[in-house]
Amino acid sequence: MSLFPSLLSPIDLGPFTVPNRALMGSMHTGLEEAEGGMERLAAFYRARVEGGAGLIVTGGFSPDDVGGIFGHAATLKSESDADRHHVITASVHDAGGRILAQILHAGRYSYHDNSVAPSAIRSPINSQTPRELTERDIEGTINAYVNAAQMARKAGYDGVEIMGSEGYLINQFIVRHTNHRTDSWGGDYTNRVRFPLEIVRRTREATGPDFCIIYRLSMLDLVADGSTWEETVYLAKEIEKAGANVINTGIGWHEARIPTIAQAVPRGGYSWVTAKMMGEISIPLITTNRINTPDVAEQIIANHQADMVSMARPFLADPDFIRKAADGQPDRINTCIACNQACLDHIFQGQYATCLVNPRAGNETLLSWQPAETAKRIAVVGAGPAGMAAASVAGERGHDVTLFEAADRIGGQFNLAREVPGKEEFSETLRYFSGELERHGVKIKLNTQAGADDLIAGEFDEVILASGITPRTPDIEGLNHSSVTSYIDILTGTKTAGENVIIIGGGGIAFDVALYLLEGNSKSHLDADTFRQTWGIGEEPHRDLPERQITMLQRTPGGMGKRLGKTTGWIHRLIVKRHNVKQMGGVTYEKIDDAGLHIEVDGASRVLPANTIILCAGQLSNDELLQPLQNAGIPVHLIGGAKLAGELDAKRAFDEGTRLAASL
Ligand code: FAD
Ligand code: NAP
Ligand code: SF4
Repeated sequence: MSLFPSLLSPIDLGPFTVPNRALMGSMHTGLEEAEGGMERLAAFYRARVEGGAGLIVTGGFSPDDVGGIFGHAATLKSESDADRHHVITASVHDAGGRILAQILHAGRYSYHDNSVAPSAIRSPINSQTPRELTERDIEGTINAYVNAAQMARKAGYDGVEIMGSEGYLINQFIVRHTNHRTDSWGGDYTNRVRFPLEIVRRTREATGPDFCIIYRLSMLDLVADGSTWEETVYLAKEIEKAGANVINTGIGWHEARIPTIAQAVPRGGYSWVTAKMMGEISIPLITTNRINTPDVAEQIIANHQADMVSMARPFLADPDFIRKAADGQPDRINTCIACNQACLDHIFQGQYATCLVNPRAGNETLLSWQPAETAKRIAVVGAGPAGMAAASVAGERGHDVTLFEAADRIGGQFNLAREVPGKEEFSETLRYFSGELERHGVKIKLNTQAGADDLIAGEFDEVILASGITPRTPDIEGLNHSSVTSYIDILTGTKTAGENVIIIGGGGIAFDVALYLLEGNSKSHLDADTFRQTWGIGEEPHRDLPERQITMLQRTPGGMGKRLGKTTGWIHRLIVKRHNVKQMGGVTYEKIDDAGLHIEVDGASRVLPANTIILCAGQLSNDELLQPLQNAGIPVHLIGGAKLAGELDAKRAFDEGTRLAASL
């Protein structure tokens, strides 16, 4: 009996039936524009089909030259464009899967000088003001969508997804906020939705009945003056009549200042939106956002909140998501932790998307490993992200691996990170690696501080030092005062902060400690209703008064948190601001005594009273074993924090551990 009978049941989409209810949702990877990128994408998608994904939607392709998000964005407008895609469709079909091309016109979200929109209104997340489309341009753009669908068909795709949400061009037509037109494409709602309806109707006419059309409909705009629920239902019904086979859910415009896919969103936190639409139309409905385990997906389908679920990032984290669920091994799934660090953040930094917990994602043709020709005796020191990844891959390759960990559990700093509100998903990574290490026969020595002598005496062929970091102790007089403590003591609960807290440091850990102090252990943010209330979705935001006054300090002048995640940092900055956390840059630390922390700022000395001063002053590499091992002539490798503490994050740690072990 299947553990996930609803998720794994087939569904008829009209033109064809797919074997399960999971759609691998659209993700732009950056490979779409890269030289040789289509071949890499073909391998990337094929791995997902082999792992059980029954239906895939590609990243967005612009139907014309002005609709790309960036100036060089890939288009799907000509026969030569279509030819480039053959390698993808052939690879997916060969593996037994189905794939649709997404057509995406970014409108005013285009980051180039020729952007266009229904009205010349600049978006708050873009510096360019778009040009207003003429009526002739609008006709041309609709034709471009239809042409793109025809090119998709030529390329061998099983259909298209028409991107009508997230604040892109179609959405910009629908909403009064961005459509100030007075002609037949603006004004009342029926005029504003003519643009998507014409696109779907004419696409259906041009492609025939056996071509699948998914329409991604913005069911919750999360911007001022967005569509009402009645308008959204009306549009869904009209889209069905216009010829779509399936409606997918879109949540929130990119400019919305409410989290939609970040860690702050509880699992399945937006399925209630699609659930409201169920019964209003007769074609299948797909729900989306923060669905990352088969259990959550199963509950949604079984409870009739949607007919299918769309998961995008979870398929980056684990290509075999569906196969493992079907094999009754959901514990083997490498779960997406919603960090955005290697996927979305990469895209916004001009890099290719991959995955923090799975560096192979998008690199299937470049990073792979085979059983080792000669099994070596390998010692891995430290079971943080770097050590877990290295030991797991080395073990999988057949090496004889011993993993030494000084603490009583694996995970390193992830054990601290998972205490932070919103980072509970980090526990899933530890669950995954714990299973992988066992399966690959890695001998784990917990509570064992490996010393140079032990490692030398162990006669290992190779030693991997993944011993991480030690927190930096800043040079401030009075650090032994009873008010001073480390972030480790606070996050492990060894010490409790008082009412008046100073955090020394303004980096990632300082923000996390501030969030931890604001939220405590309540875990209330994991509840979908509390999440809605906190962020004011459909009602006024609810705020508890903070129990303590928190002040964050840094020596660098200016604002804090600039190095936080590109697509998630704003959430952390917003939360601390809303809770009146004070921030001070350009500070010089003088001393700590019973009066508090003495600082100099703007040329004046001040004393900040505090019952707790928490040190979050960065980290230093813990690499003291390197020299003695090298002196003993043992081949030794440094990875993760042990190699370089500055600019360290778990993405680099997992990546270095994986790549090293693949090469040994
Ligand atoms: P570590 O995780 O430090 O692991 C090193 C391990 O080695 C430790 O378990 C230690 O006990 C062990 N060890 C050391 N010496 C020995 C020895 N001689 N013998 C045996 N064992 C030894 N990163 C992100 O990318 N995203 C985030 O959101 C994020 N949030 C964070 C939140 C917090 C609160 C903290 C503290 C960190 C966060 N990080 C985050 C950072 C991330 O956890 C680190 O970059 C990552 O853990 C580094 O991995 P590592 O394996 O190099 O080292
Ligand atoms: P960090 O981000 O580098 O911040 C260190 C802070 O310490 C800075 O604000 C710095 O500010 C201060 N500092 C440095 N030297 C100091 C000194 N001698 N005296 C006093 N203050 C000093 O490091 P972190 O907060 O320790 O985080 C470690 C790593 O974990 C980071 O690199 C980060 O990538 C990762 N992390 C990521 C996340 C995430 O959400 N993505 C969350 C947590 C951690 P001044 O030098 O201006 O004083
Ligand atoms: Fe998920 Fe983070 Fe991987 Fe992106 S990088 S797929 S958010 S785990």
